[in-house]
Amino acid sequence: MSENLPLFIDGEFTQSKSDTHLEVLNPASQEILTKVPFATEEESNRAIASAEKTFHDWKDVPPPERSRLMIAYQNLLKKHHEDIAETLSKENGKNFEDSKGDVWRGIEVVEQASNIAPLLMGETVGNVARGIDAYSYLQPLGVCGGITPFNFPAMIPLWMFPMAISCGNTFVLKPSEQDPMTPNLLAELFVEAGAPKGVLQIIHGGKDQVNTLLTHPDIQAISFVGSVPVGQHVYKTGTDHLKRVQAFAGAKNHMVVMPDAHRDRTVDNIIGAAVGAAGQRCMAISVAVFVGESKEWIDDIKEGMSKVSPGPWENPESGYGPIISKQAKERVIGLIETGKKEATCLLDGSDCTVKDYPDGHWVGPTLFTDVTTDSTIYKTEIFGPVLLCICVDTLQEALDLVNANPYGNGTSIFTNSGSAARKYRHEVEVGQVGINIPIPVPLPFFSFTGWKGSFYGDLHAYGKQAVRFYTETKTVTERWFEDGKSEGANLTIKLK
Ligand code: NAD
Repeated sequence: MSENLPLFIDGEFTQSKSDTHLEVLNPASQEILTKVPFATEEESNRAIASAEKTFHDWKDVPPPERSRLMIAYQNLLKKHHEDIAETLSKENGKNFEDSKGDVWRGIEVVEQASNIAPLLMGETVGNVARGIDAYSYLQPLGVCGGITPFNFPAMIPLWMFPMAISCGNTFVLKPSEQDPMTPNLLAELFVEAGAPKGVLQIIHGGKDQVNTLLTHPDIQAISFVGSVPVGQHVYKTGTDHLKRVQAFAGAKNHMVVMPDAHRDRTVDNIIGAAVGAAGQRCMAISVAVFVGESKEWIDDIKEGMSKVSPGPWENPESGYGPIISKQAKERVIGLIETGKKEATCLLDGSDCTVKDYPDGHWVGPTLFTDVTTDSTIYKTEIFGPVLLCICVDTLQEALDLVNANPYGNGTSIFTNSGSAARKYRHEVEVGQVGINIPIPVPLPFFSFTGWKGSFYGDLHAYGKQAVRFYTETKTVTERWFEDGKSEGANLTIKLK
């Protein structure tokens, strides 16, 4: 086992003085990879103070120079793509290909951050009144904080700090305590790319370290990704402390299957989106809504799912990895047991074992049908490789069902009908829609636009919305006198 994981404060990787540490385990083998400290109050405050001090220099670094840092960073991330993915797989359990995807989707955001100057352009109107011009700038906020979940330990930190920092802010990251090694590796490469001391800080820990960020007067904005109860707490506490907050939370994503869709392609896509990453994705498909005759395909899904096996990350045959922790697995198994009383279980993965990995948190693909919308398994985000099937007669019924769900992260429709697709995308009350795409996570020139109970805030992650989130608009109204001749005092608010 390596030494305890360091914090990253004021440009130094430094061992914490904390008495509280958590073992970071490989969830397939239970090997102890490191111990993560829960930063002391003094350490968190020191990180914030360093970020605040650095901000006053960093905000004056011209955007093209900030872009060049991100270009160098992107190159290093690409060079070390596989090393990062390996660390990620070890601590998170994802299979290697999926980990590489996790890192890649983060690299794509850094690519956007590398071209920040055009995104920072303000607006201009000449001659808004006679002899008067107006224009606006986007200026950074100060120190921003980020709190990230376990399920994308590379992509989600990279949603946040590259955009915030390229906008001229400094950043304090509090990664998930369950897989904190990947974020440290991201920070090491950021230093190697030339990031000035203090621009990025990492404090490890859990609830207490998050609460320090939420209440500290020098933190201007908070980006959070995680579960619903914590997201609500973060949004309420952060805004109560007069901070700007964006909080991305849990989900229950539906795929609507029309009978005119390509059968085999639809079945393949449902299986991948439901059990990939052991269902531990906020955009996983957890409910398939079969319209009309498409319900006959449920047997194909059962057959296809039964051929997918979880396994360790190093094995290219592993369809997906373990559940992140013992507690998380117990929760998933508990929900499968509840489901057996509420619906028909066609495939039960609760008794799954993997050769040579007796202690892994394995759950096999699990399939329920005859699911009702008032059941616990429908109302709860399971976050495991579990798919629920619901059958309806019409597209309108499917739409009404999806729209009645309190979450609104992602959805998709599989069909060959342009009019069905058009009706669905227009009327569905969900922020990210896939048409024959099962997991429609937008690329970073768009934004990640979850709705309803899946998002608390106004401006979303990455893309133009992130630039708005991480900046303040300054509007200038300007006049230059041609002579010094008095025209008398203007006692009105009218520009003249
Ligand atoms: P989590 O809410 O348990 O943890 C997220 C972060 O909050 C971690 O850094 C954790 O240390 C911190 N935290 C945990 N409990 C806290 C508390 N009581 N007070 C303050 N901070 C606390 O989430 P998780 O289990 O790591 O991640 C899975 C969840 O994240 C799922 O619900 C998933 O849907 C959601 N998620 C959402 C999106 C999205 O974009 N909407 C993306 C990825 C994951």
